[in-house]
Amino acid sequence: MRAPLVDGHGRRINDLRVSVTDRCNFRCQYCMPAEGLTWLDRDDVLRFEEIERLVRLLAEMGIDSVRLTGGEPLVRRDFPALAGMLAAIPQLTDLSVTTNGFLLERDAAALVAAGVQRFNVSIDSLQRDRFFEMTRRDALPRVLAGLHALASQPGVGKVKINAVALRGYTEDEVLPFARFAREHPFEVRFIEFMPLDADQAWTPGSVLSGEEIRAIVGREFPLEEEEREPSATARTYRFVDGTPGRLGFIDPVSHPFCSDCNRIRLTADGKLRTCLFSLGETDLRTPLRAGATDDELEAVLREAVWRKELKHRVNEKGFQQPARSMSAIGG
Ligand code: SAM
Ligand code: SF4
Repeated sequence: MRAPLVDGHGRRINDLRVSVTDRCNFRCQYCMPAEGLTWLDRDDVLRFEEIERLVRLLAEMGIDSVRLTGGEPLVRRDFPALAGMLAAIPQLTDLSVTTNGFLLERDAAALVAAGVQRFNVSIDSLQRDRFFEMTRRDALPRVLAGLHALASQPGVGKVKINAVALRGYTEDEVLPFARFAREHPFEVRFIEFMPLDADQAWTPGSVLSGEEIRAIVGREFPLEEEEREPSATARTYRFVDGTPGRLGFIDPVSHPFCSDCNRIRLTADGKLRTCLFSLGETDLRTPLRAGATDDELEAVLREAVWRKELKHRVNEKGFQQPARSMSAIGG
């Protein structure tokens, strides 16, 4: 074992997001432009062995939770094989995947068998035409079929639904999602829209806050907050009337949780990002491919993590949106 990873503000870092591809088969309005982005060259994308080596090293430094994301992780060829390689790293106690669900009917069984414990499936509307409008793909029936295929896998862990909350769109989705959460074993989580869209259309006014959503739900289904775990990014609520089900709220804009942040990110092209909103990144691929030893890579990682940003500045004057958008960072 190596010494734990800590940043210069005293935060212990144990959570890693790994983007396995920048490519995606959807074009969600809050993430990608309609025409897509210029994809990375294949040679620039980390190979499975390279990802595994970095994750193994980070696991020796105290990373115990890894979420695989993208782009759309399931479009990466043989993705379940990568999940299996990472699941075999002994220090990892939590391996999860965030997906748009389009390929889940094909891959759910393989991913669960590979050792993925938890899944987040992104669904912004339960109405087919509005889902099409937001993702620019007429794919709701297929995504729901994937979600149910996943839930029926023996041994699957928690499955959550992620919905990005946008003013002028999500208000009408809130109650259908609340009903869905009462009728199905999926926690529905609303995520405030962040300025990470490739179109740079974000404005403070386009964020529908968690508080506003809770007010809409509360008129029909009163909610009560559950106890929050120390470094949890989501606040969760149950229904006061005792109906099973849960709603989660991730409110990074209205209630930043930076002081508890325990997270770093690895992009598909091997750059370490210490914040979603980082303006700089640390290149790991070059030393990796130049034959750096584990000790040399450890020094690069430690130095980068030490400089992790204190907080994001979304609500401050002069905020600068990073050059990479959400799909290229790995959300
Ligand atoms: N393609 C997969 C998916 O959509 O689940 C994984 C990658 S996606 C970038 C990860 C998560 O980020 C999704 O839940 C997506 O809805 C969310 N997301 C994307 N752009 C966002 C934005 N500008 N603000 C807030 N969440 C965003
Ligand atoms: Fe693709 Fe996910 Fe971005 Fe939608 S949010 S465009 S599914 S990467």
